[in-house]
This record gives sequence, C-alpha cells and structure tokens, in this order.
Amino acid sequence: MLTVNAYASPSATEPLALTTIERRDVGPHDVLIEIKFAGICHSDIHTVRGDWGPQTYPLVPGHEIAGIVTEIGSAVTKHTVGDRVGVGCMVNSCGECVNCQAGEEQYCLAGNTGTYGAVDRDGTITQGGYSTHVVVAEDFVVTIPEGIELDVAAPLLCAGITTYSPLNHWGAGPGKKVAIVGLGGLGHMAVKIAHAMGADVTVLSQSLKKQEDGLRLGADHYYATSDENTFTELAGTFDLIINTVSAAIDISAYLQLLSLDGALVNVGAPAEPLPVNVFSLIMGRRSFAGSAIGGIRETQEMLNFCAEHGLGAEIEVIPAAKINDAYERILASDVRYRFVIDTATLN
Ligand code: NAP
Ligand code: ZN
Repeated sequence: MLTVNAYASPSATEPLALTTIERRDVGPHDVLIEIKFAGICHSDIHTVRGDWGPQTYPLVPGHEIAGIVTEIGSAVTKHTVGDRVGVGCMVNSCGECVNCQAGEEQYCLAGNTGTYGAVDRDGTITQGGYSTHVVVAEDFVVTIPEGIELDVAAPLLCAGITTYSPLNHWGAGPGKKVAIVGLGGLGHMAVKIAHAMGADVTVLSQSLKKQEDGLRLGADHYYATSDENTFTELAGTFDLIINTVSAAIDISAYLQLLSLDGALVNVGAPAEPLPVNVFSLIMGRRSFAGSAIGGIRETQEMLNFCAEHGLGAEIEVIPAAKINDAYERILASDVRYRFVIDTATLN
C-alpha cells in the first residue's frame, strides 16, 4: 500500500480538506501514475454534494487525471515508466458484456467502475484524482500524445471525451449546424471540437458576457438565451444541439430549435428531471437523447484528434488550497473554462 496526499470531501456539506489516502499495491496489470494535474468537473460537485445520491465519505473527487507512469506491473504491455498518460471517469468494467466488447465500456451492463465513489473489485471505494498518485488497470489508462501539455490535456479526459463522443456519433461535420448550450468546461471543449470537425457552431449561453471568448474558441455565432428573440430567430435551425448545462432548463424550448430529424443530446446531468412537451418532438421528427463520456478506444481517438488539431482546454491552474473557491465559482458559472489543480501543491 502507498499512502498519498489527497484533497477529500468529508461530507456533503463541508468544504474539501487535505488528507491522506491509501493506494493499492501495483498488481500485474496495474500502472502507478504520478498525477501532475487534475481537472475539476461539475460532476465532482454534483457527486460530493449528494445531488446524484448518497456517497461514502471521505471522498476524493477528480476524473480528469494527467500524469506520468512511475511503476508498472509485471504483465503490463501498454504503458511503460516515463509515459505521459491520462485517466478519465472510469477505472474498470466487466470486459465481457456486449457493450464492453464493442468498446463502449462506459455503458457496461454490469456498471462501469467510476474513478471515484464507486465500489472497486476488492470492495474498497475508489478515490479520484485530487491526489498525488493513483494505481489504475492499464486498460483504463490512455496515452497523452506529445504536443498536448499535461495541464491542458487533463480536462480532455472528461470534458473532451464527453463532447467528442456525441459530436462524433451524431455526425458533426461540414454542412452541419451544431449548437452548444452552456459555455463552461464541457461547452468550451464542444465548441473547439465541433469547429475542428468542420461544423457551423453556435453557442447558446445565458448572456453575451463570454461572446468574445466563444468566437475565439471557434464558434461562428453566439446568442443569449435570456433574450426571448433568440428562440424565435433560431426556430428550426440546428441539426444537432449538445446541452451541457448542469441545471434543469426548459428542454422543450430548445427542441424547437432543431430542424427536421434534428437531435438534442443531453450531456448535462442535473439532479432534477427534464420534462418534455412531446409535441416539440413530434412536430419535426426530432430526437431527445443522452450520452455518457466515451469508451477507452474513443478516448484515445479523441486525444489523437486534439493533438492533430492543436486542441487543449482553456484552463486556470490552481493550488489545491483553492479547490473550494473554484467550486463556488463553477456554481456561479464563473469558470473560464476549466480549473485544473496543480497536484504538486498537495505535497
Ligand atoms: P460547468 O463548467 O459548470 O458548465 C456548465 C455551464 O452551464 C455553465 O458554465 C453555464 O454556461 C451553464 N449553466 C449553468 N447553470 C445554468 C442555468 N441555471 N441555466 C442555464 N445555463 C446554466 O459544468 P461542466 O463541468 O461543463 O459540466 C456540465 C454538466 O455536464 C454537469 O451537469 C456535469 O455533471 C455533466 N457531465 C456529464 C457527463 C456525461 O458523461 N454525460 C460528463 C461530464 C459532466 P453559460 O454561462 O454559458 O450559460
Ligand atoms: Zn467529468
């Protein structure tokens, strides 16, 4: 066992604080990673605050991990000491069900093992990336290509893949009009990736405050959803809408913005249900869908795509002591556009 420093949530209502946790010994198929940077995802906040159900505390969040391999197990073939690697939202799956066999481990029929707050094979609760080291099965570790710095790569492990996967699956590309709802961590990566895929990209944000940024990141158009005219002007426009909003919004109003056969894909995961007026689906043969992260193969594909197109996240690097402040700023939609913890500050 390895005792390492980490930042943990002691309960659903208390601030996170410095502590130590145990990492398992490196098994034959495991790699030990020295974590360099860990992104802060809104899912970390939903989880530790109990939005998605009760948790076991103390809980170390963090599923946007970038670091260096420092030790490998005797049977490891995919990674070696010194490799630049990443770990995203899952660290295991059954490997045998039809979805795992198809490379869609995130949809494992037995349930994938989340990077934190999940019951691991040995019965312990997994602990995430706000930490100096982690031990992960090599199959759930991806390679960060040269050309992407580790700090801007970390958010790709969740925000990158969660937006790349539906954009890819629903065919974002030249000739497609794609709208991104919410310009936060996921939203800003969705804009960059959809633009790199060749789509015509529109940001639908609560206000015009971040318009300049949105256009710089690759959006062709930018609208404020607080302006009623936005919904009349854009009615029937988009082939694909990716909703990244962390709160419940009026989905039916957004469905009206889809063209015939258009799809609205929800990646935002608010605690509350999102009621739908079925007429906004019927009248236009529209789809309302959801998508969760991406499989390991697709995560590697996304990283390679980002390296090829020179994409990384727009980040604000913070010391661990600022994690609680960062949470408040994320909740206030005041993030530009991902907080990334420099894990050296945990020592
Ligand atoms: P984030 O950085 O906080 O971004 C969310 C953005 O949504 C905000 O920046 C804001 O953008 C907009 N927003 C927030 N509250 C709003 C409200 N009340 N009404 C309208 N717009 C609002 O969060 P994130 O890390 O990108 O995560 C977004 C959501 O995706 C979270 O629910 C997270 O749990 C979920 N998620 C899902 C997956 C998956 O696999 N499906 C993976 C990761 C995260 P504007 O200021 O531009 O309006
Ligand atoms: Zn996430």
